[in-house]
Amino acid sequence: MENCIFCKIIKGEIPSTKIYEDDEILAFNDINPIAPIHILIIPKKHIQSTNEITQEDELTIGKIHTTIAKIAKEKGIAEKGYRIITNCGEDAGQEVKHLHFHLIGGTKLGTKII
Ligand code: AMP
Ligand code: ZN
Repeated sequence: MENCIFCKIIKGEIPSTKIYEDDEILAFNDINPIAPIHILIIPKKHIQSTNEITQEDELTIGKIHTTIAKIAKEKGIAEKGYRIITNCGEDAGQEVKHLHFHLIGGTKLGTKII
């Protein structure tokens, strides 16, 4: 998708610190981390938000979660815990309109989600 910052990261047109990559998924460090570990996990297919996920994406979305679990173990936060966040739409403050999962951890996180 043209003018999508995450599609540009996938194509290598914008640099990123890659954590994991395969043919369907990319994980990279968030440029503006809110915790010691703040990684974004995205499908390589441009899906605008959770609202646009279809049945054909179900395997990829599942794989994203097994990948998140693997990354959390590798980063040493699996035992102590972490948070996965997806903002969807305006009220949630979704800035980048390419589906992404924030993996946040490495510190004691606040208990409030709003
Ligand atoms: P959201 O508000 O859920 O759409 O989150 C978008 C996230 O993308 C924010 O946490 C930004 O810091 C992050 N972000 C924006 N541009 C980049 C970039 N070029 N590389 C890495 N992360 C980015
Ligand atoms: Zn995109």
